[in-house]
Amino acid sequence: MKNKEEYLGFEQGPIRPPSEAYSLLIRITRNCPWNRCTFCPVYKDTRFSLRPIEHVIEDIDRVNNYIKAIGETTDEDGNSSRAAVAGILSEVEPFDDQAYYAALQWYFSGRMKSVFLQDANSPVIKTNDLVRILEHLRKRFPGIERVTSYARSQTVARKKDEDIKALADAGLNRIHIGMESGSDTILKMTDKGTTKEHHIRAGLKVKNAGMELSEYYIPGLGGEKLWRENAIETADAMNRIDPDFIRLRTLALPESTPLFHEYNKGNFDKCREVTIVKEMLLFIESLDRITGIIKSDHILNLFEDFEGKMPEDREKLTGMLKDFLDMPTEQQTLYQLGRRLGYFRTISDMDNTNRLKRTESYYLKYNITPDNVDELTTELMKRFT
Ligand code: SF4
Repeated sequence: MKNKEEYLGFEQGPIRPPSEAYSLLIRITRNCPWNRCTFCPVYKDTRFSLRPIEHVIEDIDRVNNYIKAIGETTDEDGNSSRAAVAGILSEVEPFDDQAYYAALQWYFSGRMKSVFLQDANSPVIKTNDLVRILEHLRKRFPGIERVTSYARSQTVARKKDEDIKALADAGLNRIHIGMESGSDTILKMTDKGTTKEHHIRAGLKVKNAGMELSEYYIPGLGGEKLWRENAIETADAMNRIDPDFIRLRTLALPESTPLFHEYNKGNFDKCREVTIVKEMLLFIESLDRITGIIKSDHILNLFEDFEGKMPEDREKLTGMLKDFLDMPTEQQTLYQLGRRLGYFRTISDMDNTNRLKRTESYYLKYNITPDNVDELTTELMKRFT
């Protein structure tokens, strides 16, 4: 008989969406049950496992106890002295310090309004177990307004409608799905383990259950050969779902990914950044039934201010992309370089003389040209993956 797993303390997984920066992170499974997507570095060399439900409940209770203890050190204006908070830490067992730090961070984020369930695919656990966790969270923290999780389309598409509804009723109110691409060719090529049809089915299930839906799209995932298909097919899948948020995350190629090895062997023709901008333009122009928000909230994207509500901001978004595409090639190269060096966040940052000069000096010193800039930016982007 299998030994019962011992509780070894509060756990936290490696990632969360950028929009969950102020959320309490509660880990209910470890790693990714699929773990085969060729572009994804996050859980490679790890094994998926379920956490015992009692351990997750224990994590929630421990954070709750520290939240209460920290709360007792604050005055009526909500201020707390360092000494008082340090006093709590001095009593924390080494085994329990992660729960304390999670509570501390959440408490002083000033919000304590949102919780993110980790890791890659929480709905993979039994619906009843997830409902139990959600109900316990809501009981311990009645003030939370949002509980969110990543999910795989394949898992959500397989769940019964009533199961998804039960999760929504228990308080799971936003799901993040990595669509990545709506092209079946690209999904197969990257071993995403799902299809466009499953993406659409899963997205509609989430929306019909009354949850908010955030879908991720990876411009560049089809490479130079399939950029048009990536734009058109992904836009078509998004149009059929109309998610609340479409989040862009430009393809990067960290060395730990199988796709990097394909690229190294010459089997994947990575898009130049100019092509990615063309793809984004075609994508936005192909969205005709979207009423949600397009966001570019990741450092890997070329324009940090690329954000708007559809359909009213369509012109603003396409205008930004066209502005870049209309620039002289040398200016495009300078912007790419400055963005990846961290000097530029938006095209208007090129008006900042100091930042422009710093980019130009790098440009001249390393002999950067439109022909070699993508090789360099591919290297620089690895820092952010
Ligand atoms: S399903 Fe998500 S977390 Fe898992 S390998 Fe694919 S992209 Fe990575």
